[in-house]
Amino acid sequence: MARDHGFHPVRITRVVRETDDARTFVLDAPWPYRAGQFVTFRACGALRSYSMSSSPDTDGELMTTVKRVPGGLVSNWMLDNLESGDVVEVTRPAGIFCLRETSAPLVAFCGGSGVTPILSLVKSALATTRRNVRVLLANRDADAVIFRSVLAELSELHPDRLEVHHHLDVLNGFVTETQIRNFVNVDSHADFYICGPAPFMDLTERALRDHGAGADQIFVERFGSADASPAEQAEQAEQAERPEAQAADAAEAAPEEPKAAAEEPREDGTVTIVLGGKKHTVPQHPGETLLQSARRAGLAPPFSCEAGNCATCIAQITAGEAKMRVNNALDDDEVAEGLILTCQGEPVSADITVVYED
Ligand SMILES: Cc1cc2nc3c(=O)[nH]c(=O)nc-3n(C[C@H](O)[C@H](O)[C@H](O)COP(=O)(O)OP(=O)(O)OC[C@H]3O[C@@H](n4cnc5c(N)ncnc54)[C@H](O)[C@@H]3O)c2cc1C
Repeated sequence: MARDHGFHPVRITRVVRETDDARTFVLDAPWPYRAGQFVTFRACGALRSYSMSSSPDTDGELMTTVKRVPGGLVSNWMLDNLESGDVVEVTRPAGIFCLRETSAPLVAFCGGSGVTPILSLVKSALATTRRNVRVLLANRDADAVIFRSVLAELSELHPDRLEVHHHLDVLNGFVTETQIRNFVNVDSHADFYICGPAPFMDLTERALRDHGAGADQIFVERFGSADASPAEQAEQAEQAERPEAQAADAAEAAPEEPKAAAEEPREDGTVTIVLGGKKHTVPQHPGETLLQSARRAGLAPPFSCEAGNCATCIAQITAGEAKMRVNNALDDDEVAEGLILTCQGEPVSADITVVYED
C-alpha cells in the first residue's frame, strides 16, 4: 500500500489541561501533516479520531485536543488515565479538512471541541499567508471555551488579520442563521470552515448556502458518526475487545443488512476482500458497501464512524473500481492511488478486489 495507515506506538510527551473537560495530548510523533488533519487512536478496544490542534507551520510538536463526551468510552478514558510517558497506538495523520491555495478570507465557525482543527488551520493561515481570518466560536459558557488564551494571543499578534468572536449560549441562546449571516457580512467570497456539533454545523451550512456561498467554498469536518447509534458503538467497542468473536459476530450481523440487497445478489459480480493476508470472495449485492460485503463474508475489518469521516476503514483497491458515497477523509491523490473508505465504497465494476493493510 502506498501510504501507511496502520497503528504505531507513540509516547505522550505532555498532557495539557485546557478546561475542566478538555486536554491536549502532546505526541512524540515526528510525522509530517497538514493543518486540519487528524490521527486515529486505538484505545479501550475502540477506534477514535482526534484532530490536531497544533500546526505544522507554527508548532514543533504534534498535539491533539480531546474533549470529554458524557458517557463516552474513549474520551473519558483518555482524560482520566493518560499521562506523560504513556504509550498510545495512533495512525499517521489523515484528512482533507485543510487549507487550499487562495488569498480569499478564511471564515470559520466552530462549536465546543470543533475549535481543535480550526485552531490548526488558523495558525497556518496566519503564518503562511496574508489572508484575513475570522472565527466565530460557540460554547455553552465561558468555562467551556477551549483555546481562549491562545486565540487571544494570536489576535494580539495579528490585530489587523484575525478577529475572534465568542458566542456563549448561556448569554445569547443558540447561534441563529441570522447571526451566521451577519458574521459573514461582506466576506461572502471567503472559504468557510465549519466544525462542531451536528445541529450547529447543519444550521451554519444552511445559512451560508442561503447567503449565496457555493459548495466549493464550504469545508466541513464532522466528528460524529452518521449511522452507528451509541448502542452500536458500544457494541463495536465490546467486539473489538474480543477479536476471536469478531468474525462470528460479523457473520451474525449480516441479516441486518438492507433486505433489498440481501434478496437481489448480482449474479455476475464479485467482491474480493484481502484481510490479514487472506483472500475472501463473495457475490456482489447491489447497494452494498465494501465494508458490508466484508462483514457478509464473515470478516471484521476495521471501522469507526461509518460516515466517511475518520478513514479507519481504509483499504486499497487492487482490481476493479468503486465509488464513494461520501468522502471526508481522503485527498484526490489518495483516491487516485486507489485508496477507498470501505464504509462508503460501492463497486462500479463487475469484480473488485480490496486489500486492508495489516
Ligand atoms: C475526523 C474526526 C476528528 C475528530 N476530532 C476530535 C477532536 O479533535 N476532539 C474531540 O474531542 N473529538 C474529536 N472527534 C470525536 C471523537 O472521535 C469521538 O467521537 C468522541 O471523543 C467520542 O468518543 P467516546 O469514545 O468518548 O464516546 P462514545 O463511546 O463513542 O460515545 C458517544 C456518545 O454516545 C453515548 N453512549 C455510548 N454508549 C452508549 C450506550 N450504550 N447507550 C446510550 N448512549 C451511549 C455516550 O454517552 C456519548 O454521549 C473527532 C471525530 C472525527 C470523526
